Amino acid sequence: MASQLRVYVPEHPLIKHWLGVARDETTPPVLFKTAMTELGRWLTYEASRYWLATIDTQVQTPLAIAPATFINPNTPMVMVPILRAGLAILDGAQTLLPLAKTYHLGLVRNEDTLEPDLYLNKLPEKFAPETRLLLLDPMLATGGTIMKALALLIERGIDPSLIRIVSIVTAPPALQKLSNTYPALTIYTAMIDESLNDQGYIVPGLGDAGDRSFGT
Ligand code: URA
Repeated sequence: MASQLRVYVPEHPLIKHWLGVARDETTPPVLFKTAMTELGRWLTYEASRYWLATIDTQVQTPLAIAPATFINPNTPMVMVPILRAGLAILDGAQTLLPLAKTYHLGLVRNEDTLEPDLYLNKLPEKFAPETRLLLLDPMLATGGTIMKALALLIERGIDPSLIRIVSIVTAPPALQKLSNTYPALTIYTAMIDESLNDQGYIVPGLGDAGDRSFGT
């Protein structure tokens, strides 16, 4: 059966709360970054539910033998934050998955062409087979940045069906592009907004996530 892009918007009061904080233009940078971190934490919690590899075994309690399930330490697990605002999401994701390796990608949008320029690439040349990868990109707007990141990951051996994208706010143009090219992907987002403005910003969105996270 052909795969179809899956986009999940988890119904959770904490996700709604922190999205409201992030959207509010009066929120100061320190609190904005906290909101991104919290959204990263809860979206990662949801995204990892059926994605983490586990092993079933038994442990001896003080009283008896009990069945036990652990995260499989032999299945490679990787996080890739897209700088800058992906760093704030990473802070939340790392509290849940501290053993995942982190490889940074720096992509900045050229404000004239709206195309992404790659300025930092810490990816390995090749990922191990079966690597599960969490891709942290705060805003899926035109889709240019995420498409570039995915091309870099897939040419290094990542299977799209083992990727979970965590994105705070998404918009239809990016989702359409992803659906056309990588239908096996799964996305977790706090909200799908309606549209983009002429500068490629999501409306209502939350503004420039990088500038607001770092007070620039
Ligand atoms: N990047 C942002 O930071 N905000 C948007 O709305 C779109 C892209």
